[in-house]
This record gives sequence, C-alpha cells and structure tokens, in this order.
Amino acid sequence: MMKNLFFFSLVLLTVIGCKQATDTTPGHITVTGIDSSKKPGDNFFMYVNGIWYDTARIPSGQSGVGSYSFLNYPQRIRLQGILDSLSTVSSAPGSLEQKVGDFYASGMDTVTIEKLGYEPVKPLLAAIDAVADVPSLVKLLAAQQKILDGSLLGFSVGPDNENSTINIVQLYQAGLALPDKDYYFKTDPSTIAIQNAYRSFLTTVFTLTGDDTSTAAKNARTVYGIEKQLATSHRTNIELRDVKTNFNKTAVATLAKKHGNLNWVELFKELGVQPDSVNLAQPAYYDKLNTMLKSVPLADWKLYLKAATLSNYASFLGSPFTNASFEYTKALTGQAVRKTRAEDMTQAVDRSLGHALAQLYVKKYFPEDSKKRMGVLVDNLKKAFEARITRLDWMSDSTKQKAKEKLYAFTEKIGYPDKWRDYSNVTIKKGAYFENILSANKNDYQYSIDKVGRQVDRTEWYTTPPTVTAYNNPPLNEIVFPAGILQSPYFDIDADDALNYGGIGMVIGHEITHSFDDQGAQYDKVGNVTDWWTKPDYEKFRSRTQQVIDQYDSFTMFDSVHLKGALTVGENTADIAGIAIAYDAFKMTPQGQDTTRIDGLTPDQRFFVSIARIWRVKTTDEFMRMYVNVNPHSPAMWRVNGPLMNFTPFYKAFNVQPGDKMYKEEKDRIIVW
Ligand SMILES: [Zn+2]
Repeated sequence: MMKNLFFFSLVLLTVIGCKQATDTTPGHITVTGIDSSKKPGDNFFMYVNGIWYDTARIPSGQSGVGSYSFLNYPQRIRLQGILDSLSTVSSAPGSLEQKVGDFYASGMDTVTIEKLGYEPVKPLLAAIDAVADVPSLVKLLAAQQKILDGSLLGFSVGPDNENSTINIVQLYQAGLALPDKDYYFKTDPSTIAIQNAYRSFLTTVFTLTGDDTSTAAKNARTVYGIEKQLATSHRTNIELRDVKTNFNKTAVATLAKKHGNLNWVELFKELGVQPDSVNLAQPAYYDKLNTMLKSVPLADWKLYLKAATLSNYASFLGSPFTNASFEYTKALTGQAVRKTRAEDMTQAVDRSLGHALAQLYVKKYFPEDSKKRMGVLVDNLKKAFEARITRLDWMSDSTKQKAKEKLYAFTEKIGYPDKWRDYSNVTIKKGAYFENILSANKNDYQYSIDKVGRQVDRTEWYTTPPTVTAYNNPPLNEIVFPAGILQSPYFDIDADDALNYGGIGMVIGHEITHSFDDQGAQYDKVGNVTDWWTKPDYEKFRSRTQQVIDQYDSFTMFDSVHLKGALTVGENTADIAGIAIAYDAFKMTPQGQDTTRIDGLTPDQRFFVSIARIWRVKTTDEFMRMYVNVNPHSPAMWRVNGPLMNFTPFYKAFNVQPGDKMYKEEKDRIIVW
C-alpha cells in the first residue's frame, strides 16, 4: 500500500509559544509577520515568514516549530485536555471514555512504570533466550509480529497492485534501526555521530539488562554488524519509488522452495494467515535474510532480537530506557530535551486507540459545516484540474479522456470516517501501561490479518482524524482530508477565498495531483497498475518529471545539504501543479475576479501569501539533514519558492523581474499539469 501523506515526518514537529499568526475579527483576517523590507522575488518564503522566522524559537523539547505536522500545538492541547479530564474520572467500564482515559492514566503513572523497570519485557527476552535453532527463531518472528514487535519481517496487508479490490500480504525490506541503508555506509562526520549514538544506545540497553560494560559494547557491535549486512541488500529510498519493481507477486510455494531457512509455509501458519501468493516487494532483502539465518551464529541473532525488542519497547519502560532512547533521538534530530510526558502519552493514545480518541475529538471540536464547505472547494479544484487537462499541449486527446475519467472517479474523505475502528477486544486498565500497549497491538495485528484475501474496504482511513495532514492513496484512487487539517492556517470558515484557496485549496490540489505524479500516474481509475497512457504521452510526461528532478537537484538548504530531486519528484510535482490548480479555482470565485485590496494586498497577492504562510516552519539543522536524506517532501522553504519560481501568475502578482533571485526565463518554468 502506498500513501502520499501531505506531511511525512519521522519525527514530529509541533508549534509552541506562538499563537497562530492571525488576528481574527469576523470576515477579516490579517496575515501578520510579513517582512516588507525583503524583496518578494528574491525569497518569497522569507518575505512572508521572515519576521516570524527570525524571532521564532525552537522549543528545547522539539526539533522544530511551525504550523504543521501530526499534532501542532493548539491541536495537541485540545487532545491533552480531553485526556486529562477523562483520566481523572471513572467512566463506564469498557466504554471508549474508560479505555482512552485509563490508557492515558496508565502512561502518566510513572511511579508504577519506574517501579517495574524492565520487568514487562522480561518474558519477551526469555522467549528469545529459549530459541534453539533456526526453525524456532523463525517461529519467534511470527510470535513477535503478533504483538507488533517487528524486526526482521516487514509484514503488512494492503491492496493487490494488479487487482486493487483484494487485500494481499505485502512483505517489505526491514531489519534496520537507522533511518535507511545509507546511514550504515556514509562516512561524513554527522552520519558517524549518528552511528555512534545508535551503538551507544545499544550498549546502554545491554548494560541495563545485565551485561557488564565491555560485553555490552561488544554485543552492540555485533548487532550493528548484522544490521549493516542486512543493509547491503536494501534498496535506496529513491529505488523504492519505482512502483513496478517494488511489486513482485509470488506464489508462497515458490518462495518456500527458494527460502528454505525462512520456511514460509510454517511462518505463515504461525502468523495466522494462509495466502497463496504475496507481494515480495524487495526480494533481495529476503534472499539475504534467508542466507544470513544460517551464516550468522544463533547467539548473535539472539543479541540482535533482544536489541530490537528493547528498542521497540524502550519508550514504554522506566526512565533509564527512555533516557537512553532519547540520547539517540537527540543525535538524530537535534531536539535538546525530552518532550513532556503528557505530550508523549497523547501521541501514544493516538497510536494505540486513535479512533477512540478521534471520536471524542470530533464530537467536541469539528464543525459539521466544514464538511460542506470542503465539498465545494474540492469540486471547484476538480473543475480547475479538468480544465488544465483540456488545455495541455503535450497530451493526446485519448489520454486526456482517460485522465479525466480518473479524476472523476476519485473518492473524497473529509473530516472523519463513517465507520470507526472497533476496540471491544482491547482491555485497558489503570496501572498496566505495558499490558495496555500489548492489548492494543494484538488488536491491531488481528485487524490487519483479518483483511488478507478479503475485499478492500474502501471506507477505511489510514490516519487518525485529529492528525494535521492529508493524503492520496492511489490503489483506492482517493484523497483524504482529516478534521485536523481543516483549521487555520489551512482552512478558516471566516477567511476570504484568497486565504482558503491558497491554504487548503493548495493542499487539495496537491493531493489530486498525486494521482498524476511519477507514481500515481501508473495507477488507473480503479487503482490498478496498468498502462492507461499512450506510449508517446507517457514519455512526454516522464521528460517533464525529469525536468522537475533536475531543477530540484539544484536547490540547497545549507552547506552540503542538497535536495534529492529523484526522491522528492512526486511531492514536487504535486506542489507545482497543486498551486496552479488552486490558483485557477480561486480565479473562478468572486474575489478571484475582483481587485479589492485587503490590508494593502490584492486578491492574487493574498492567495500567494497564504501559500507561504502554511509553510511557516523552522527546524534544527540536524533535523533538516535527516529530513533531506530520507523524506520524500522538500523542506518548507522549497515547497514555497520551488513551485512559485515556475508559476507565471506569481511573477505578475509581485512584479518579479530578471535579476530577482527566484526569476526564471519563461521557457524554463516547468509545467507538468
Ligand atoms: Zn504529498
């Protein structure tokens, strides 16, 4: 399953200390923080955000500050408020309120958690010690998967790329703790520091579970060595973008013959599924794992598995473990101090009982009117996109027809799901944080394997509704806008159209375009990977996305940190077209046709200012380095300046001239859609 999240960060950013930069009086919203001393055509991101940027302070418990990501500050405070009040009352046993409140209370109960130390994981470590041979090791992998204590198996369930109505087992490359394979082989000082921090984390957890210091250090090196070997078989994050080479439907009987040590038939039986075939997404990894199961001594595998279990569960144990885990996070992201316990626990509830918390959240905070208004916006964006398809000078009529059919076959999901996840099998008790996590994990695993071989549920959501994000899921040909993103600065029922079209309008345009980016373009209107393009049209499309790759390769953040054009091409294509579609749709509104200024800004200027405002983000250098290495999105500044450099109406709105730093000759401005 492939999802294009609007924001995808490995580490979460939150806003703190600065309220949304708007003064709200009904019907009139002033955008503050614009730095008029700067020239808009030199760096539009800094023109709009400069004053904010220069004064914003990254809180010590964060790796960045800004309006976006999983739980931005006001959003987190709302969720924390719900949790705080539920955790102190007694709700009816088994009710959502009881589960959510007691889960949170159990996570906040640090007295009990400290007293237990690493007691809760001891049975899991004992199970690893009991492994006697390769077959019992493989059996253990299945048992671990059932409580989501995954390490060597990248097991998941999702639509078949060739028949998107049916769910199949998907096996992805796995086994690494560092963000991706490159981290094991790069030798620059910042990568070396991260490798050291990871080994030192491993040494600490081995010490905490009984090894003396020198044994612990030796064991850490062994574990790291196994990961490094596994990493040689991994595909890079750029190679992972290729839709076709990452889909390899294979009969289990064939796999069983090929991978004698992995013993797939037995493994699937243990996992509780009996598929005929699976998608072996990255075969080289499983070939390597199969070989290593025999070539690496069993004692070393046990160390590896213990390390993986301790890393998976470190954040649920006593403070020696959470501290060790944080030291590694610090090296990776530059975050100076730990997040508050309440913040971590809010996130833990969202992860374990997300749909329960979400129900309470939307009841309290999501205005139903927003759904209707969003429906209108989405319709207008679709009309604008259709008109752009009609006008394309590089595409034949027959492909245009197919593209439009795909556009009108979209499913849109707005706010929250019609059908919520069921948690009746999850048992939650106060004072039992670790057991609560395990109970939720077991339920999640069961939920996922129940889907194998079954019809794809087209109403399912892949993010929780309070999350500030949006996504496009090509196998379902759908775009999804959770309640979390339907608020300021993206969307405001009181704002003028310029702000809303430059905000959520751009987000909608971006998500629509994902169905037509380097990956999405390969899925047809029902979500199957097929060649629905004529060959010459597809080649022309590819040459345009190649222009996007080349252009973004030339952008830099600081010193040696260059954007990776080939990693970010899908997102950049979606940003470039998303802005254009949102602008076209805005021009269909009365304000788009008008010239009345608000706070000195023309309607067009306000539209572009809104785009830069939704990307008001500042991060630590460490975070940015990691982000550029592994994240398929460009950094915030380039999500503004990149697309606008290619968009002629922006030049007109701000009188951008030759000599301005963002200026590009008209022939060099890229238009894909
Ligand atoms: Zn995206």
